[in-house]
Amino acid sequence: HRRERADNVHGPGRTADGHPVALLVNLGASHELAGAAAADAEGVGLFRTEFLYLDRAQAPGREEQTAAYRQVFEAFTGRRVVVRTLDAGADKPLPFASAPDEENPALGIRGLRTSARDPQLLETQLAAVAAAAQGSGAEVWVMAPMVSVPREAAEFAARVRAHGLPVAGAMVEVPAAALRAGRLAEVCDFLSIGTNDLAQYAFAADRTLGSLAELLDPWQPALLDLVAATAGAAAERGRPVGVCGEAASDPALALVLVGLGVTSLSAAPSCLAELRAALAAHTLQDCIELAGLALAAPDAATARSAVLRRIG
Ligand code: PEP
Ligand code: MG
Repeated sequence: HRRERADNVHGPGRTADGHPVALLVNLGASHELAGAAAADAEGVGLFRTEFLYLDRAQAPGREEQTAAYRQVFEAFTGRRVVVRTLDAGADKPLPFASAPDEENPALGIRGLRTSARDPQLLETQLAAVAAAAQGSGAEVWVMAPMVSVPREAAEFAARVRAHGLPVAGAMVEVPAAALRAGRLAEVCDFLSIGTNDLAQYAFAADRTLGSLAELLDPWQPALLDLVAATAGAAAERGRPVGVCGEAASDPALALVLVGLGVTSLSAAPSCLAELRAALAAHTLQDCIELAGLALAAPDAATARSAVLRRIG
């Protein structure tokens, strides 16, 4: 076992018995690019594109976006880059994309919903992603934030493919999407669970309120139930399913997520070594047992302590 662990200190993520779990980085600002590209990661699991749109009166044009995306794709030649299309609204307000005067912006026109209001915003972005992907050598996947129903995922996937981009996915951030993940997985190529928003919407708890941290704890068994439903439905249809929210950066919780059927983890570059080591020290069967412990717990604190006790 000692040798096996040593072999797993670098390179692709895998459990002690060799089950692959892709380890990817989150990227959300251009100053993070060098560190992300240098990380020992299989690619980018969540490229948050909002930074390009911030602090301006108008959306950036196609050429400007193409140049920015090309920089990222060229830094990841030979690796995967999962681009998330613009996630405006709620905690990420943009004057030209967000609807004014909403009483509940987190429940309003945000994420993919902005593209129903202004289709050109998404068209320009997809055209730029497609142009930048061309010849970059990166394996570019594109996913939509805040998908609620399968029809949205199907329409998004069709638009992505119309731009010649072959891999289209849906983020699972809304409980309705998790409950119907099988239908989502039938109309797109992969799923990616955003646990930050999924917790917010499952617990009706504003993610920006520190005073609600206990409800937003990613160890909450009800959140894990939604992850299990999503991962199970994706697996039945042979679709990859990642986690790119904060939950993926906790090594003990990552083992639980893998036990629930998650096939990739995306986190800050500084988290990857610990995630890789945790995977390398546990078999898939260990992960499945840890997931069982967490799901059986009455609350988040008990779930965490039961898992930590078991893994020592
Ligand atoms: C999430 O909601 O978990 C997520 C990854 O997206 P963001 O934090 O950018 O909303
Ligand atoms: Mg989100």
